[in-house]
Amino acid sequence: MLKHLLFTAAVIGLAACGAETTAEPQASKTDIKEAATPKQDIKTQDLGDGFYMLLGPGGNIGVSVGEDGVFVIDDKFSRFADQIIGQIRGITDAPIRYVINTHYHGDHSGANADMKETGAVVVAHDNVRKRMGMSFENKAFGRTVDAVDETLWPDLTYSENATFHFNGQTVQAIHTPNAHTDGDSILFFKEANILHMGDNFFFGLFPYIDVDGGGSLAGMIASHEKALELVNDESKIIPGHGPLADKGDLEKTYEMLKTIEKRVIDEIKRGASLDDILKKDILADYAEYSSFIDKDNMVKIAHRSILEMQ
Ligand SMILES: [Zn+2]
Repeated sequence: MLKHLLFTAAVIGLAACGAETTAEPQASKTDIKEAATPKQDIKTQDLGDGFYMLLGPGGNIGVSVGEDGVFVIDDKFSRFADQIIGQIRGITDAPIRYVINTHYHGDHSGANADMKETGAVVVAHDNVRKRMGMSFENKAFGRTVDAVDETLWPDLTYSENATFHFNGQTVQAIHTPNAHTDGDSILFFKEANILHMGDNFFFGLFPYIDVDGGGSLAGMIASHEKALELVNDESKIIPGHGPLADKGDLEKTYEMLKTIEKRVIDEIKRGASLDDILKKDILADYAEYSSFIDKDNMVKIAHRSILEMQ
């Protein structure tokens, strides 16, 4: 069975490029910085009223700027730390007070040490710190995920939810259990009506679900349901990957995830093997969502997640 769980070379390539790996090797941090191309990779999108979205390689960053200072959600990779801090400094000289990690993956938390050096406190769900401090088997990638250096671990963690009162906003950090990983949070700026979904929301792409890291398709679907309770037609939604989205975009992705789940469950109930399901090409009508997770990998992730939840 295990061979069915292993991904294709394309997805292993994803691990090599670091898009979803837990962190960059610490020993090579300096080398990576030196090897980074000088061109500006990180772009800032102004969302209005002191809110910004930083796009570019790695997970999308959310930034709130105001009288209390700077509040940051996720921080991409360490090799972009200078650019990230530079973009923020282009907006304000105010101190970076908090950096929230939506989950443990290195493309969302890789610059934690750099952000701490500026004086920021890094905050996340308990399981983010737990995952960063442990080694575990990633069967999907066929490799061991090593613990990362302690300088990257969050300083402050919470077991369920947390609320920040910052820059005149009520900022709710809501834990969505066993979704993309086992330590996800979505961040809702209530008054500004802006939601950062972390990697619970891949906009326009099939999602990676880190089953080895405690994620599940059912949890991803539940996280969309939770998010849809929070937002309205005016909400701005920052996905973990992809451009700025709205409620309609989130609803569309939610429907897709539900459809994937239903189709795979129906096939399992019929007695189909994973190979049978793959041969049937049950996600052909969603081919446009294929990216680093293609439609076959999506079926493999969904199939494994559903079987492991039973
Ligand atoms: Zn991720």
